Amino acid sequence: MSEKKVPERRCIGCMQSKPKKELLRIVADEDGLHIDKSGKMPGRGAYLCRNGECAQLAVKKNAFGRNLKVEVTRQQAESLAEQIAQLCR
Ligand SMILES: [Zn+2]
Repeated sequence: MSEKKVPERRCIGCMQSKPKKELLRIVADEDGLHIDKSGKMPGRGAYLCRNGECAQLAVKKNAFGRNLKVEVTRQQAESLAEQIAQLCR
């Protein structure tokens, strides 16, 4: 293994591990779910591939609440998936 190790995270949609910088970081606070574009928002983060499909998968599996250890409503999850779909179009 001569390659330099890059930090990897697992997408909560497709469950594949990818380099952290290829993924979107999602954080939750009392207002709901947010895309952490800076990568510096406080709190527990979940990671998603940069495509709407993985976001939809995560909504279907209720993966946001499970991974972020917070209550996430279906509406909050779907609104986030919509934002990601627009971002990655
Ligand atoms: Zn994915």
